[in-house]
Amino acid sequence: MESVRKIIHIDMDAFYAAIEQRDKPELRGRPVVVGGTSKRGVVATASYEARVFGIHSAMPSSQAYRLCPHAIFLPPRFAIYRSVSQQIMSVIKEYSELVEPLSLDEAYVDASENLKGIRYATRVAQDIRRRIQEETGLTASAGVAPNKFLAKVASDMNKPDGLSVIIPEMVDTVLHHLPIRKIPGIGAVTEKRLHKLGIRTVGDLRALSERQLTGTFGKMGFWFYRIARGEDKRAVVPQRARKSMSVERTFHDDLINREELNAKLSLLAEELDIRLCKRSLRGKTFTLKITYNNFEKVTRSVTSIEVIEGAPVFIEKALGLLAKTEAGTRPIRLLGLGISSFAGEEEDCSPPPLETQLPLTWESQQLEPAP
Ligand SMILES: [Mg+2]
Repeated sequence: MESVRKIIHIDMDAFYAAIEQRDKPELRGRPVVVGGTSKRGVVATASYEARVFGIHSAMPSSQAYRLCPHAIFLPPRFAIYRSVSQQIMSVIKEYSELVEPLSLDEAYVDASENLKGIRYATRVAQDIRRRIQEETGLTASAGVAPNKFLAKVASDMNKPDGLSVIIPEMVDTVLHHLPIRKIPGIGAVTEKRLHKLGIRTVGDLRALSERQLTGTFGKMGFWFYRIARGEDKRAVVPQRARKSMSVERTFHDDLINREELNAKLSLLAEELDIRLCKRSLRGKTFTLKITYNNFEKVTRSVTSIEVIEGAPVFIEKALGLLAKTEAGTRPIRLLGLGISSFAGEEEDCSPPPLETQLPLTWESQQLEPAP
């Protein structure tokens, strides 16, 4: 029999905003929004006080401003967030060799064989939460479960500053009403598609047979079938070496209008910038990806001697590459931006490219909200 794994998901509470409130006591108890402060910026993190007004991450900053004009809008200080993140990750790594950071403020920990010989994963999780608070003054939430998916669901159940455990007997109850958006791999587009089929919760998904699911969703159907039953065999993989970072969006209404196209590009550029900053990544190859409405895909890349960084530069490069496509004359259903050929700060940096047309591995997932 396979032994039951003990997986912990650690997730800092409103990370960037919490750091700002920690460092500037006058911000405590007030709605704080960290993110792009320009007209086209997006929210990276909102404090819990700001969430009350309906503000959430990945929302355009302009919309956040309309929802709560008296909120304090701050530009991100990624250098600080990265150093706090290092403190947190080194605490976590005292407990297990199998730590998989998902972003600056989130990590999976396989505590099945923990380094401190603690018998219960719940104890490990409590210890980690306490140590993080002592070292950084910040609170973390934790979820404990037999796999990654359930651990992540658990850490979300008792936020902020909470701990939740999902034991096998609870799986059916916990998952029944869970919105399908919480399933890894389901982004905005798949969600809409499932909604149209009347599937809104994991319980709804579970009512479908494996054959029905694979018939509709292909390979993804197998994944849906298992995940709906709380089964997830993904291992905790320490330190994934990234070769590229990209963001993309599929549009319900095809884009043809140039102005609209530019607006979407700006949003994607901001998202890409935030994602790269979160992982301290800087690269020299910039790629634009387009799918026309007949599903024909094209990519255009440019490689520079210097690193290509910052949303304004991404926009400029993207517009240059866009001119080499049929954008504006042919309807577009998907738009993506990516950076590869990472240099510098990362330990696992890939060698410089030999040619400009490098294949990019695009993340299949939709844009996920930042923490
Ligand atoms: Mg978080």
